[in-house]
Amino acid sequence: TRNLAEADPAVFAGVEHELDREQTQIELIASENIVSKAVLEAQGSVFTNKYAEGYPGKRYYQGCHPSDEVEQLAIDRAKQLFNCGFANVQPHSGAQANGAVMLALVKPGETIMGLSLDSGGHLTHGARAAMSGKWFNAVQYGVTPDTHLIDYDAVEKQAIETQPKLIIAGGSAYPRHIDFARFRAIADKVGAYFMVDMAHFAGLVAGGVHPTPFGHAHVVTTTTHKTLRGPRGGMVLTDDEAIAKKINSAVFPGLQGGPLMHVIAAKAVAFGEALRPEFKSYAAAVVENAKVLAATLKERGAAIVSGGTDTHLALVDLTPLGVTGRDADEALERAGITCNKNGIPNDPLPPVKTSGIRVGSPAGTTRGFGTAEFREIGNMVADVLDGLAQKGEAGDAQVEAAVRERVRALCARFPIYQ
Ligand code: PLP
Repeated sequence: TRNLAEADPAVFAGVEHELDREQTQIELIASENIVSKAVLEAQGSVFTNKYAEGYPGKRYYQGCHPSDEVEQLAIDRAKQLFNCGFANVQPHSGAQANGAVMLALVKPGETIMGLSLDSGGHLTHGARAAMSGKWFNAVQYGVTPDTHLIDYDAVEKQAIETQPKLIIAGGSAYPRHIDFARFRAIADKVGAYFMVDMAHFAGLVAGGVHPTPFGHAHVVTTTTHKTLRGPRGGMVLTDDEAIAKKINSAVFPGLQGGPLMHVIAAKAVAFGEALRPEFKSYAAAVVENAKVLAATLKERGAAIVSGGTDTHLALVDLTPLGVTGRDADEALERAGITCNKNGIPNDPLPPVKTSGIRVGSPAGTTRGFGTAEFREIGNMVADVLDGLAQKGEAGDAQVEAAVRERVRALCARFPIYQ
């Protein structure tokens, strides 16, 4: 029963380093957030010990009453949060949730259709390197070169030509609202299932500041750790009873073994938090802050893919500044600002380099940053980028050191995990 510091000082040190990093760096990675202490406590609880294969009331092991309690809470809260009829909260991650839908609704070799990686899609939507791209006949749609919006007419044409069994909307770097009704009409036209992967914007849907996919999609998947601000994990939701049955069999025993009960307990906590009125204000602030960040970077000479954002993230095209994504994310890390390099539509540079960075507001908004702080962050990012533009890939050490100090001061004013 020794605590971590005593039992394993090396791992404890790593945890302390991560805590210090999160406390003193500005997190702009759009897929990350800062969970509450309650979520951390549930995830670090004794549920980590428990095997509970099956579902509440129908387990394959004894001793599952407490597991039933927390899993039912998670299910009921998820259904209430998204106003839908069914939730499977067991997927270990977003990739598992998507894999479960494919296992439930399509067979290997059948055609699936998703947004291409270079247009902001996710690996699990049929990218060549992923299982979804290897085991299915994956066709990919994209965005128009001028507006950077999904080319719905092209999607329709491609769907008629290729007759997919499953059409997927959603992505990891698509900053705009998606026309769910249009997608459903296309799916109906070709007899396909329509799935929305709302991993990135689920928290915005929960907070009522983003159109909901329910009423349009046959099935919805999500991660629970991005804008939704829960533990790392996945979930599958639907209103269709026949699909619900197939999803339950696909998650277990189809794809996974025992559920991670400690993570499910933490999901229940996070969904409870998202049901509170404060979460609506949080979601609204996330979108407002992302817009300010994008606008500030635009004023400072970067191009914003699609011209702006409707969501929590912006994709920044660094081409006008003469800077690559790789140099930018490394220089920004030196300055205490964390983000990721990201390809832009039709990026001439390879994925290890890229012409862009993806920035997001969910984590910063959680720690209390508002529009004034996000304007300052935008200016700090631009200062570092200007340094790179002037001095080359090594960047401007003086500028980076000065920004590092400003970042520390800003973080100290908005402390986390005190
Ligand atoms: N779907 C989308 C749209 C994502 O952005 C991600 C993660 O980046 C995933 C699925 C996969 O989630 P996970 O990393 O939990 O497997």
